[in-house]
Amino acid sequence: MTKPLYFDCHATTPVAEAVVQAMAPYWSECFGNPAGASVWGWEAEAAVAQARATMATAIGALPSEIVFTSGATEANNLAIKGVAEACLARGRHLVTVQTEHSAVLAPCAYLARLGFTVDYLPVNGIGQLDLSQLAAALRPDTVLVSIMAANNEIGVLHPLAEIGALCRERGILLHTDAAQAIGKIPLQVAAVDLLALTAHKCYGPKGIGALYVRTGTPLAPQLHGGGQEAERRSGTLNVPLIVGMAKAMTLAIAALPDEGPRLATLRDRLWARLTAALPDLILNGALTPRLPHNLNFSVPGVNGSALLAEVRPHLTVSSGSACATGHPSHVLAAWAIARPGQCGVAVWAGEFSPGSRRRSGRRGGGGGSAEIADGKWVLNRLNWVCHRPSWVSNRTREVLTGTNWVSNRTREVLTGTVGF
Ligand code: PLP
Repeated sequence: MTKPLYFDCHATTPVAEAVVQAMAPYWSECFGNPAGASVWGWEAEAAVAQARATMATAIGALPSEIVFTSGATEANNLAIKGVAEACLARGRHLVTVQTEHSAVLAPCAYLARLGFTVDYLPVNGIGQLDLSQLAAALRPDTVLVSIMAANNEIGVLHPLAEIGALCRERGILLHTDAAQAIGKIPLQVAAVDLLALTAHKCYGPKGIGALYVRTGTPLAPQLHGGGQEAERRSGTLNVPLIVGMAKAMTLAIAALPDEGPRLATLRDRLWARLTAALPDLILNGALTPRLPHNLNFSVPGVNGSALLAEVRPHLTVSSGSACATGHPSHVLAAWAIARPGQCGVAVWAGEFSPGSRRRSGRRGGGGGSAEIADGKWVLNRLNWVCHRPSWVSNRTREVLTGTNWVSNRTREVLTGTVGF
């Protein structure tokens, strides 16, 4: 089966070959329980200690401040519910943002059901937060502010340094969901007290993540049992996945100085070509500061779900978080972009773009990205979909057929000379 080209790296990424290799010995050779008192356990414990130290160094933390979890969902839950429970004596007020991932919004909603008050701050027309609104929302009984480092749909980055300063002045803890930021932008923990990570967005395995917890931060455990992770998260540590996560983070962070600008250049070129051919396209979210590999746009007059249904056999793109498939994007809805029947389409490219690599049979990092830069695939598919009479405005069709950029074949399709 030929799979569609993969442009959905916010949903997940493939596991890098070097990561697979790093994990390999820890499945059945060095399989000990790191809590076990034997040479098998010590070997596993040493691997975990090494991974913990590597990850801590990468984000400017101490090894003792890293708590391994099953992913960012669990890390966010532990941070939000754990701080709320540990700080009951101080207050029951939390602040977050309407465009957060459900792994933050849902624990907040859970706490609201238990009697906490949660303020959900709005964002402006390009997905950014107004810091004066944040300052105004902070109260003496606020125990936690939770604001993501990078949005998983529109790629918009929030200014953690400024947010951290606001919180610190008032003695309020700051948590950030950095699931999409790790390995994509420089990331340090200086401004925050808690930071959630996951491995599978940066070419690591699924089912493993971590929570950075600044020394001294009050945190009530949410899983009770053997008391692993210094009583903060019980459960036998998953050694191969922990080793894989540390390896993936190391590789992604080492590649960042070259990879970030490279992806941003490709993304900007794709956007320039798309808008040259389809001037009606609307970019969702600020172009800067933004994740370098993210593009999210709406096609006015074109039904988003119908567009996705048509594009999907050829391109893997999304109209929202993979965790909310089937629902309109709450991120775009936060500033009323998602009108009924219309939604943004996100093109989230990555280092390998494995779909295109497999399709073309090429190996190596360049294959997918070259096609992203070229933009022809995306444009051809959009043209095809937009040509459907019920989905396209006359203006858009005129633009499409009038442009010099589309291929002759596409123009023939648009003018009805041949079928696609
Ligand atoms: N937070 C954000 C911003 C995400 O994009 C995701 C994954 O989609 C998560 C949290 C959940 O991460 P995990 O799949 O590791 O539980």
